[in-house]
Amino acid sequence: MSESALTNLLGLEQKAMEAFFVAHGQKAFHGRQVLKWIHKHGVTDFDAMTDLGKNLRARLKKIAEVRIPEILLEQTSADGTRKWVVELVCGNRVETVFIPEDGRGTLCVSSQVGCALDCSFCSTAQQGYNRNLSSAEIIGQVWIAAREMGERSLTNVVLMGMGEPLTNFDNVVCAMDLMQDDLCYGLSKFRVTLSTAGIVPALRRLREVSDVSLAVSLHAPDDQLRNELVPINRKYPIAELLEACREFIRGDKRRKITFEYVMLDGVNDSDQHARKLIKLMRSLPSKVNLIPFNPFPNTIYRRSPDERVERFRHLLMEAGIFTMTRKTRGDDIDAACGQLVGRVRDRSRRELRVRQIHGVNAA
Ligand code: SAH
Repeated sequence: MSESALTNLLGLEQKAMEAFFVAHGQKAFHGRQVLKWIHKHGVTDFDAMTDLGKNLRARLKKIAEVRIPEILLEQTSADGTRKWVVELVCGNRVETVFIPEDGRGTLCVSSQVGCALDCSFCSTAQQGYNRNLSSAEIIGQVWIAAREMGERSLTNVVLMGMGEPLTNFDNVVCAMDLMQDDLCYGLSKFRVTLSTAGIVPALRRLREVSDVSLAVSLHAPDDQLRNELVPINRKYPIAELLEACREFIRGDKRRKITFEYVMLDGVNDSDQHARKLIKLMRSLPSKVNLIPFNPFPNTIYRRSPDERVERFRHLLMEAGIFTMTRKTRGDDIDAACGQLVGRVRDRSRRELRVRQIHGVNAA
């Protein structure tokens, strides 16, 4: 399928939008007006952007468009969680999930079609990897949810859907800038969270260009086990990862890193694992999110029993580490953590990418 020759303005953050207008002989502030129309008011038709002159609107129609990804399927869970399957060009699909809770609504956004990291307990990994999403495709998920749910019910965005956001660095940073821009969605740095399996050099770069909150998928308290669960650990082991986390929040006393820890029965959930984790967590301002494993077809893992999860949480809390157990939401529509699969065309590209980007020995 051929890409349109028109520039899709959906994926331009403020500076890029201004530059686009200036490059076409227009004033930069028209760029800001258009930004606001698109993201704050949800308007995609240039003719409806009534504070732009007629000539400018006519010109824009010749050179640009506002193209929103198509919603292929929408499902609502018994607990109110909503999932959209979004169709991209070339037949790929990704999934976006909205989780309503008391007083807040969190949107879980995908950043890639599939994922190249191959974590052993994640169903997205089994889909293989196809490509990065563009900034328009990432912010498009927020645009869709804001329209469907109403902008005010969308209070938080987490990059915890399909993909590893830090291996799609520029497009993810651009989309997060739009989430934080007051002309767009106006979310504070505490309400935009990037979740990563720990791409250390990209984490260092992120600190230079963005102040969003950070969640790190740790899942194991020692390198031997983490190598098995999160293979990127072979390249960036725990000590290096934690050092990069410390640097990320250095100088800001209010900030903590959230560590995600999936609870796998008999694998990483013993008292001894908890004690090792406590030692690691004491070395930096942190909190822990325990995620009871969400099963999917052909997995070798089982979810830890509730009592085990509670005991693990208790041990961490007793040691002064704030720990929450993430409620399983939307599992009846396969919208829970690690259950997002979308549709990944040409999955064979994964192993190539793993070698290219990370130098991991993909089997
Ligand atoms: N690649 C990023 C973003 C994915 S976020 C990252 O690794 O952080 C999704 C979160 O859900 C991650 O913490 C991931 O490890 C976790 N997860 C993946 N599969 C899961 C499963 N089957 N059950 C519970 N959590 C899972």
